[in-house]
This record gives sequence, structure tokens and C-alpha cells, in this order.
Amino acid sequence: MQLFKGHQKTSFIDYPDKICTVLFVGGCNFRCPYCHNGELVNNEGEFIDEEYIFDFLNKRRKMLDGVCISGGEATLYNTKLYDFITRVKKLDYLVKLDTNGTNPELLKNLIDNKLIDYVAMDIKAPFDKYEDVVNVKIDIENIKKSIDIIRNSNIDYEFRTTVCKELLTKEDIIELAESIKGSKRYIMQNFKDGETVLAGKGKFTSYKGSELKNIEESIKGWFEEVKIRG
Ligand code: SF4
Repeated sequence: MQLFKGHQKTSFIDYPDKICTVLFVGGCNFRCPYCHNGELVNNEGEFIDEEYIFDFLNKRRKMLDGVCISGGEATLYNTKLYDFITRVKKLDYLVKLDTNGTNPELLKNLIDNKLIDYVAMDIKAPFDKYEDVVNVKIDIENIKKSIDIIRNSNIDYEFRTTVCKELLTKEDIIELAESIKGSKRYIMQNFKDGETVLAGKGKFTSYKGSELKNIEESIKGWFEEVKIRG
């Protein structure tokens, strides 16, 4: 079975308070113009042999706490992803899934079967502005269903939003945050420019740290924890 196109052997930042390895799938059903993973989103590059991955996981079991599955969008690969995670769990690793929330059925299935321990779901924009940011037609009900599934589960989670001035105003971020009020953890990830940005370098502007602090002040009462990254 071939699923992954990228592998970061060790990460101290992708799984909160844990040391993990990160695996990246290729392909995504969104086209967020600020995305840093253009090659992966366009599904370029070679597959990594799955037996190499399991060999790695077997050897590193004492050094790593978990496996973070990122992308691209991993939930596009329904059964393949389910089967891969089932095999990883047999090695007794924690599993974190990064998702854009477009496959609530798979998400629920993974949670119900205790196959994932942490979910980081991107919430891209206020619901009525979603398609402007992700650049494709979507069924917003799937995003709302995923939010409900995660909030009503007993696994650890975060909702997070990449913020840049051209795509989300301060008011947009506050509106978005209000729509997920009462959630456990909300993270604003400041946009970082670079050569691999999907729409090209120099198109988008990050927020100033003080501006994000200011937004944090307005929304922090709505969550157990609010964080700014970047
Ligand atoms: S930011 Fe995430 S959801 Fe958006 S295109 Fe990139 S991989 Fe897909």
C-alpha cells in the first residue's frame, strides 16, 4: 500500500508535548493560495515505500511517542488511511491527524474506533467566506459536521486558522472564532511567506504580533486555550 510522499523523521512541534514523526500524503481537495506544500498539494513526487515506514516505526518505538499524519489532505484516502492507522496503532503509537475537515464520516469512524488520539483541524474562514479562501467549491455542511464530531468526542484537539491580511480581516477572524466558541483550543497561525507558497511569493501579508495579541484579547474567553503561532 502506498500512501505517503513526505517524511520528517523527528518533530518536537507537530504533536503538542510529544516527540513525533510526521508523514505527508500528496493531494488535496483545497487550493488555499497561502499553502506552503505546493508540491504535495499537486501530488508531485514519489511514494515512500510503506515497509520502509514500518521498519522505521519499529526501530524508533522507544524514541518517539507518536505519528503525525499530515499533507495534503489525508482523509481523501479513506480505506487506505484507515488501514494504515490501524497498523500503526498495533505498534502502540499515539496518532495525530491534521485535516481540513472535508471527510466527517472517516473522521468519526477513526474516532469511534479509537484510532486517533489528537486532531488538528484547519478552519479556513467564516463559513460564508470559505470558498473565497480555499479556492474550490465545497460542501460547508461537511466542515460543520467535522467540527461537531471533534467537539463532541473525548479525544484531544485543536482548531486552527492560517491568517493573512488579504484573506481574513480582524472581523473575519473574530466571526470565525465565535462560530466555534466553547471549543477546547484555538490557534491563530500567522502566515509566513516563502518560495513554495502556492500563489507565489510576495502575494500575502502576515499580521503583526501586536495585532494578533489584540485579536487574542477579544476571543480568549471563548476557549480553554488560545495560542498564536508564528
Ligand atoms: S493549506 Fe492544507 S488544505 Fe489548504 S491547500 Fe494546503 S494542504 Fe490543502
